[in-house]
Amino acid sequence: MGHLKLAPRQYANHQTVITVGNARLGAEFVVMAGPCAVESREQMFETAKMVCDSGAKVLRGGAFKPRTNPYSFQGLGYEGLEILREAGKHFERPIVTEVMDPRDVGKMTDYADILQIGARNMQNYSLLKEVGTVTTPVMLKRGLCATVDEWLSCAEYILAAGNPNVLLCERGIRTYETATRNTLDLSAVALAKTITHLPIIVDPSHAVGVRELIEPLSMAALAAGADGIIVEVHCNPAVALCDREQALTGDDFARMMRRLNHLNNAMQSLPE
Ligand code: PEP
Ligand code: MN
Repeated sequence: MGHLKLAPRQYANHQTVITVGNARLGAEFVVMAGPCAVESREQMFETAKMVCDSGAKVLRGGAFKPRTNPYSFQGLGYEGLEILREAGKHFERPIVTEVMDPRDVGKMTDYADILQIGARNMQNYSLLKEVGTVTTPVMLKRGLCATVDEWLSCAEYILAAGNPNVLLCERGIRTYETATRNTLDLSAVALAKTITHLPIIVDPSHAVGVRELIEPLSMAALAAGADGIIVEVHCNPAVALCDREQALTGDDFARMMRRLNHLNNAMQSLPE
């Protein structure tokens, strides 16, 4: 960490708080939720209603999808962004969505309240420099095989280029374990909290890839000190065009939110 100037905790000497809509990232536990991909207006609005009714403070939805298979659904692009922006306005929630191409950054600041850099693009330095030229908050996902130091160095690229509004997102790393999609590295979350002033978000959905395990990992993320989570929810997971095995139903999400709120309240009164 000695080689970094802006990301380490010593630099700011306080916790960075990034305010988007009603969410104060870094100051309270924030839940972001929505479908992996925006598929249609109906799907986005139906899912958004479910997650907003249960207390999600930020809406997610992918319009540009980085798919492993080039023949898989690639997202609706700007049409998807229009739908997402409309849903955000309708439900009065800020939106987070992935930007994959530096050429889209300027245009996408008209749509997104938070720009997501995907795990596969963590070390796309042209993209990092480009999102550093705007002031829209950026959520930087940890690369599939990145160390904590590499992850923070990439955050430093954005900070150094002039954008102070950076969030970090742990989304699981690749290990020898194949029973789950990835391995959620909660050690990195607890560690990152001590070494950087930037808010840390956990993405249990991509970390584990299995619907049934999202709730326990979300509870664990809260207990480990994460500043929030980003979770995939779909109004009808069986027909989701992307990541259907990990999509929560509206009911799953509602139950998880009740339990998270309970744990969050209990944590407020933990002894020193
Ligand atoms: C996503 O959030 O939709 C996504 C593609 O995540 P990741 O970059 O973490 O794989
Ligand atoms: Mn996904």
